[in-house]
Amino acid sequence: MENIDWKSLPFGYIKTDFNVRSTFKNGKWSELEISNSEMVNVHIAATGLHYGQQAFEGMKAFMGKDGKVRLFRWIENFKRMQNSADGILMQRVPENIFHNAIVTAVKKNAGFIPPYGSGASLYIRPVLFGSGAKVGVSPSDEYTFIVFVTPVGPYFKNGFTPVDMMIAREFDRAAPKGTGNIKVGGNYASGLRAMKKAHNEGFASVLFLDAREKKFIDECGPANFFGIKDYTYITPKSESILPSITNMSLIELASSEGLKTERRPIADTELSTFEEVGACGTAAVISPIKKIVDEESGKVYEYCKDGKPGPISYKLYSKLQAIQYGEIPDIYGWTEIVEI
Ligand SMILES: *Cc1c(COP(=O)(O)O)cnc(C)c1O
Repeated sequence: MENIDWKSLPFGYIKTDFNVRSTFKNGKWSELEISNSEMVNVHIAATGLHYGQQAFEGMKAFMGKDGKVRLFRWIENFKRMQNSADGILMQRVPENIFHNAIVTAVKKNAGFIPPYGSGASLYIRPVLFGSGAKVGVSPSDEYTFIVFVTPVGPYFKNGFTPVDMMIAREFDRAAPKGTGNIKVGGNYASGLRAMKKAHNEGFASVLFLDAREKKFIDECGPANFFGIKDYTYITPKSESILPSITNMSLIELASSEGLKTERRPIADTELSTFEEVGACGTAAVISPIKKIVDEESGKVYEYCKDGKPGPISYKLYSKLQAIQYGEIPDIYGWTEIVEI
């Protein structure tokens, strides 16, 4: 095992030993290449650089209580990457290449998988982009697929703590019929100004509203939004939201806990009626929200008044993590064990 201070790992990039690559050229995907370089050699006219033909995924491998390494719902990341590829006319990565690449990247960097109990995990980042040269706007004939891994610390340095959010009325993340529902870098680039403003003003992130009417909650920065009231888990329905696998999993867990679940438009005016609200995604699982500020109207919505996450958020968060770390049986079939 690498000599890393696992408990103080940031959520950032740390060099590991190997990454895995495949390229699509002349109508076929190459054999997986295992590389020890952190660099790629890209054509200066690659469509990924000029026209935004680029998509990525994010998932984690966890060292379990039983010493086994678990991948969490990679098949959902695979399906989502297919949708992303289709959405911006990129070549799809075949399932066996995707699976082999992530498993190989984890195995080849086994020493970087943080130990059980550290709260850390191995983040897996697949990325796909147009690497062929085009100057006229059209899809590339060549694509590069890379998977790298990096150990990441627990998202919350001080435990599971509630954060503040700002409603970003002056910015939109994605258009209704645009690319909000696929995981492409362009959505992130268009959200950067809003995120910067939020960070400058001391907020953890921004709450984007739907771009058409500016009435409904869309996403919470790079995470999905959910609210809980009357024993019901409610998450927005919108065509510009990225379907979070964490959210999908929380919905199932909530339902198993006996909660009702709803996926429907959530108006900003409904924010005052929730007992608990949070953001969800692979990085943090759940970020409980303690305050939402709408600068334009001056409205402030407050939750977890005792400073602690709500009980249902806490329960769902603990359950999901317990499955990921192999502490309770995975009755959903969400995890796959990687033989190291
Ligand atoms: C990746 C992502 C999420 C979270 O998805 P998970 O599968 O739960 O990690 C949410 N919103 C956006 C915009 C994302 O890019």
